[in-house]
Amino acid sequence: MTNSLDSFVAQRLTERRAQQLFRSHKTLAAAPGPNARVDGRELVTFSSNDYLGLATHPQVIAAQQRGAELGAGATASHLVNGHFEIHQQLQQKIAELTGREAALLFGSGYMANVGVINALVGRGDFVVQDKLNHASLIDGGRLSGAQYLRFAHNDPVALERQLQRARAQAGDSGKILLAVDGVYSMDGDTAPLAAMAALCETYDAWLMVDEAHGFGAMGSEAFPCAGSAAAAGLDQASAPIVMGTLGKAAGNAGAFVAGSRALIDYLTQFARTYIYTTGMPPAVAAGCVQALSLMQGGSLAWILQQRIEYFRSRAALLGLPLEESTSAIQPLVLGCENTVLAVAQALQKAGYLVGAIRPPTVPAGTARLRITLSAVHSEVQIDGLLTALATALEKTQVAGVSP
Ligand code: PMP
Repeated sequence: MTNSLDSFVAQRLTERRAQQLFRSHKTLAAAPGPNARVDGRELVTFSSNDYLGLATHPQVIAAQQRGAELGAGATASHLVNGHFEIHQQLQQKIAELTGREAALLFGSGYMANVGVINALVGRGDFVVQDKLNHASLIDGGRLSGAQYLRFAHNDPVALERQLQRARAQAGDSGKILLAVDGVYSMDGDTAPLAAMAALCETYDAWLMVDEAHGFGAMGSEAFPCAGSAAAAGLDQASAPIVMGTLGKAAGNAGAFVAGSRALIDYLTQFARTYIYTTGMPPAVAAGCVQALSLMQGGSLAWILQQRIEYFRSRAALLGLPLEESTSAIQPLVLGCENTVLAVAQALQKAGYLVGAIRPPTVPAGTARLRITLSAVHSEVQIDGLLTALATALEKTQVAGVSP
């Protein structure tokens, strides 16, 4: 037989290697601050989503250790007997920080996105998405059976065309869900959420914002770490469905959806990725409660913003061709996969870990370095990275860069 499992997977792997797209793991050992040990060598990491440095914060680790005394695992799904007092506290804290009436925990952001979209729309409905949306939103939309419409990245005119089309086909009572990333994970740019919310009102669509990279890192004066929707001036009425992860700025694992009490009650009943899975380990919830207390008030988000501004101003002096981004994600699009790999390897040699992002994670021809900043990076570390980067780019002959 030629279609055995072994020959099928071997062929697909050979193709992947031939396309230079084969990926492998780096095995990291954590180190304090923004550092990690990779193959026995300490590197400064500019590739994690630990935007506030909370993954290694001693108070978070201590809270998580104390939380483990409640048990290593939740032992059942939330609705059976896996929901503890500490989960309740975490949900309340998230609601407080995001300015929403209530919140619901999920095992991961991927599960939250899939679960929420599938609970809200199905056959006969419409789900409208930005072309660069995260895979979990795309997969959630496809699984739902709702008609799936995409629009050009961050383009309100293209979005309006799709909303018009959806409303015309859905009739007065059909449901339309607009799901977007608030901050794009591979580009770092933010969605034009105020314009999107206005269009949702015109076409009677529901706005869902994925705050994976916004929560903790940005917000409004009243809610300084609520995320990009708050930063755009939106509240519960204009951005009724907010999803956030706890694995990025909160430095931990898991995710949440925040919204009205009624929405959360509904998702508790109908989101299958909430219902049919083991609850978050109570220790994780305890670590997250502590992390959220540390981020509350926004002083860490403010320090992060200072680091972003410092990085961008120094990069501009060196002539580095950065993309437009005011978030912690600062990509450098180089186009060619091999160049990206070569530069990332040179940086690693110089002591810096930076993400080399290639298709299919990003569109073909847009391979990039994904530099992520954290409140715990020092200016010396940022300067060191930029000098090493300028040298590596010059060596690989990327134009317009003076080391
Ligand atoms: N949405 C976005 C925009 C993300 O970047 C990610 C994580 N890469 C997720 C959702 C999924 O979150 P999690 O890692 O918690 O599954």
